Amino acid sequence: MNVLALLETGMSPIRYNARMRVAVIGAGASGLSAALQAAWSGADVTLYERNETAGKKLLVTGSGRCNITNEAVTAAAYTCSDLKWMEILLSRFGVNELKDMLLEAGIPIRSTFDGWYYPLSESAHTVVDALVSSLRLSGVILAVSTQVLSIKSGFDGITLRCRQGDMDEKQTFDRVIVSAGGKAYPSLGSRGDLFPVLESLGHTVLPLRPALAPVLAELGSLKPLQGMRFDVEASVFEGKKKLVSSRGNVIFTEWGLNGPAVMNISHAISARPEKSLELSLDFLAFVNKEYDMLLARKRKTGQLLGVFLEAFFPPKAAAGFIRKAGLSTGTPLDHVDEAELNRLTASLRDTRLKVTGVRGFEYCQVSAGGIPVTEVEPGTMESCRIKGLYLTGETLDVVGPCGGYNLHFAFSSGALAGKAAAK
Ligand SMILES: Cc1cc2nc3c(=O)[nH]c(=O)nc-3n(C[C@H](O)[C@H](O)[C@H](O)COP(=O)(O)OP(=O)(O)OC[C@H]3O[C@@H](n4cnc5c(N)ncnc54)[C@H](O)[C@@H]3O)c2cc1C
Repeated sequence: MNVLALLETGMSPIRYNARMRVAVIGAGASGLSAALQAAWSGADVTLYERNETAGKKLLVTGSGRCNITNEAVTAAAYTCSDLKWMEILLSRFGVNELKDMLLEAGIPIRSTFDGWYYPLSESAHTVVDALVSSLRLSGVILAVSTQVLSIKSGFDGITLRCRQGDMDEKQTFDRVIVSAGGKAYPSLGSRGDLFPVLESLGHTVLPLRPALAPVLAELGSLKPLQGMRFDVEASVFEGKKKLVSSRGNVIFTEWGLNGPAVMNISHAISARPEKSLELSLDFLAFVNKEYDMLLARKRKTGQLLGVFLEAFFPPKAAAGFIRKAGLSTGTPLDHVDEAELNRLTASLRDTRLKVTGVRGFEYCQVSAGGIPVTEVEPGTMESCRIKGLYLTGETLDVVGPCGGYNLHFAFSSGALAGKAAAK
């Protein structure tokens, strides 16, 4: 039966050489993982990357050290519209599966005392080198400086139109994995240009917005803290409602705050551009017990208030906090009025700053939005809209906190797609 006759019967032509022809779009963490797993599973793989080299964003992760995953990876740690979906994905490809895959590619990893995993080499360069070398050894065709412009699904497969320099060409594959990232750090390649294409194929595209981004805030009397770092619990409030909170390091800057504690909650701010939001900083979150204990010991003594607070903060910060509470550093603790002392303590536990937004895509580590996870099968990453199309990594609407969670998601969703697409 010829192809046209087959079409009339509604059947598709069968190829008797069983190797799947798989295309992967994007050689970031997710696409590298997808291409490798597809090749290891027996597929003929072509990996398209618009940059002149693979893994450009991977190189800058973890300040060049590549914080690759985290001992505490669980579904609940991610901001994702369907917790069950994430549980299924992680049950298929968790930390152990990622460790195995990386080892197979020649990348042993180890965790720090707080459970953040890095390559033994502590170098993102070695991770990219090892992944690219594994791709070559597995026969993957790496088409760099090649941008995919369109994706069309037909009876004989999925056709990509690609541009390399001035040349356009079309290629048809059995399966296509889209690992083109989101919109974060566009200078490293992910500019969101395939979202309109995915929309035309029937997918929903949720508005893209910065996540893991520095937060813009009015510092008011805390302006002198610029350049200083603190361990805090940071929370976002809309009126009286606490939306989200995170504990960790923050640094005061000329425009607001940077550092993991605020970056981890920035997606809740970028999701509400019209709302009036406040940031609450608890400067005692990590020293509550010690603060109460020392205060009880020194309360009835002539210890100066400034000296007392310097047990927890650098002198400049201690003086700033005391001034903000309307007190003086030189007052002995036994002369400080109870209500005034309570006011100082309360403000250390809940300093409010007016939020004015977050910094843009150029400054954020990941973007939120994109394709909803509910439009993709969690065990295989196959699109529920187009058979043979797979979506992975930051192209999907998933945000993890700082600490290796986003690379974990990129690698694991890529790996599941690669394995499934090769079958
Ligand atoms: C400065 C920085 C530091 C970070 N540090 C960490 C960290 O330490 N730990 C962590 O877990 N996460 C970190 N992240 C986040 C992490 O890098 C991302 O979660 C991850 O890179 C997402 O991988 P991805 O493959 O989905 O997308 P990307 O890495 O963005 O890769 C997408 C690739 O697709 C290519 N592409 C896009 N469109 C096309 C097209 N049409 N045709 C061809 N190619 C295309 C792009 O050029 C790009 O190479 C960091 C991010 C930044 C910006």
